[in-house]
Amino acid sequence: MRYLVTGSAGFLGANLVMRLLADGHEVVGLDNYHSGLRANTAMLLGRPGFTFVEHDVVEPFDIPCDVLCNLACPASPPHYQQDPVYTLRISVLGTLHALENAERHKARMLHASTSEIYGDPLVHPQPESYLGNVNSIGPRACYDEGKRAAETLCADFTRLGRVDARLVRIFNTYGPHMRGDDGRVVTNFLLQALSGKALTVYGAGQQTRSFCYVDDLIEGFVRVLALRENQGPINLGNPNEFTMLQLAEAVQRVVGSSLPLRFEALPTDDPKQRRPDIAKARRLLNGWEPEVQLAEGLARTLAYFRNQAQGRSA
Ligand code: UDP
Repeated sequence: MRYLVTGSAGFLGANLVMRLLADGHEVVGLDNYHSGLRANTAMLLGRPGFTFVEHDVVEPFDIPCDVLCNLACPASPPHYQQDPVYTLRISVLGTLHALENAERHKARMLHASTSEIYGDPLVHPQPESYLGNVNSIGPRACYDEGKRAAETLCADFTRLGRVDARLVRIFNTYGPHMRGDDGRVVTNFLLQALSGKALTVYGAGQQTRSFCYVDDLIEGFVRVLALRENQGPINLGNPNEFTMLQLAEAVQRVVGSSLPLRFEALPTDDPKQRRPDIAKARRLLNGWEPEVQLAEGLARTLAYFRNQAQGRSA
């Protein structure tokens, strides 16, 4: 099969491409390096079956494929808030162009949606049936509302019989090939710990997130694409929930040193809690279950960033 992966230079894109190549597929990657890394493309170009197109999804594209995975979008709050109007354009126009490309080539599509469509959730944990609590005019809205509109486009194309577009709602995910400077909590804590700095905890650190190791997520993608029928949105994530203070402790244990915490202001509209209800994924995806737990996943991610640092200083 020939896959097109938009956002192939990003964290999830690069990990997905590696998995698809390992499964024996041909993969075309597409990215414009707005938030993706040239190093990820360089790493992928060394592998048979991979080709790359540099393109901005805000402009239409025409690339033959059997399956299109629509991952192009900055995803960390500092990155997507840097140019909020562009983020909204990427989410909405990028998804429209992906759907049009998939329709033209009769390709199945996987769309990377997000737990952010639930906003600051009032229902906990969040099942797919929860309609969300999003501030449409806050600093996160460019991403949250953009991703909601992208879901609408996928649902309408699917209802109209134009494209079989499958929605996965991705909860916080981490692992190798993340950008060290993406400003997310896992990368911030790991890199701060590696350089012996204080860990920056926003607010009182009582807000919660549930962290999924990237390999578990990618396995979920593959299984959603393999479903015979489109089953509507499916949450993918690890349901084990931690406060940011607990995450800081977990990072300290993995690094093996006790580091001071530096408390900083809580960003506006920062969700207070987040945990996926993954009953639907468990039921439909052939026993899918996140297998890599936090300590193990943090250790693997730490090893990746350590190697990166050694590579730079060598
Ligand atoms: N956070 C933190 N310290 C950091 C970065 C983030 O305490 O250095 C908090 C942030 O306020 C949020 C959580 O960690 O409550 C997860 O933030 P992240 O940006 O990783 O992802 P989000 O789930 O908010 O999109």
